[in-house]
Amino acid sequence: YDDRDGNIWMDGKLIDWREANVHILTHAMHYASSVFEGERAYNGKIFKSREHSKRLHFSANELDFQIPFSVDEIEAAKQQVLTTNGLTDAYVRAVAWRGAGEDMGVASARNPVHLAIAAWEWGAYYGDAKMKGAKLDISKWKRPSPETIPVHAKAAGLYMICTTSKHAAEAKGCSDALFMDYRGYVAEATGANIFFVKDGEVHTPLPDCFLNGLTRQTVVGMLKDRQIKVHERHIMPEEMEGFEQCWLTGTAAEVTPVGQIGDYTFEVGDLAREISEAYEKLVRE
Ligand code: PMP
Repeated sequence: YDDRDGNIWMDGKLIDWREANVHILTHAMHYASSVFEGERAYNGKIFKSREHSKRLHFSANELDFQIPFSVDEIEAAKQQVLTTNGLTDAYVRAVAWRGAGEDMGVASARNPVHLAIAAWEWGAYYGDAKMKGAKLDISKWKRPSPETIPVHAKAAGLYMICTTSKHAAEAKGCSDALFMDYRGYVAEATGANIFFVKDGEVHTPLPDCFLNGLTRQTVVGMLKDRQIKVHERHIMPEEMEGFEQCWLTGTAAEVTPVGQIGDYTFEVGDLAREISEAYEKLVRE
């Protein structure tokens, strides 16, 4: 992704895509002091744009740094990136991090904080899984306890096990991996939340040790609008045996039906399809 035409917004300026670089002694690269957002623009408008910018501020605060741009400034910068690159339907990536500076140890309060925003065209996250249902592997790693790490921040450090889990899943022919949490409950995929259907009611893990995704919150609202009961609760992996339908939610994933998780199988059923299609409509309203 580094060798492309276009412009990236970095610390208040639009610069050439290929010039959007950092120094090797960037604190974030050594100690994971980096937070980010993944957003999608539809018809030129970013869905839940302000919520994403606010979450970026929240995540930075969780990592003990402040982004030197306000939510309003981030909003303007994101629009500028879309416009200057001629994008209407795009994925938007905002990233904030502690840079190189006075300190090169774990403590780095004096180092400057940077913000960059890039955008590019990005189609379906799981390829043709929206029709057929995605196949998931079960990760050997667990989502950690909220006493271990700031689990509600969208922070780079939380993605280390996502990358390795997704690599392992892809090596087995799966499109993603599902994590259990530190207690053994079903948690989330590497970049998406999960929902199950049984007897016309929906069950989704309580987001008490992972990201309560904006898409997850939107979908919970959509289900409640349809008078469908949503149980946000702890779910044991063995319960997957009895679930009929399953889908993932995330900004990149949107609403993607799941056909298989390990040895458990699910139908790409009516509700999964309905919510997936309704979400596609909603984001363009
Ligand atoms: N969990 C993880 C680990 C993620 O990376 C994402 C994507 N941001 C989500 C859940 C879903 O969050 P959202 O719906 O806000 O994109």
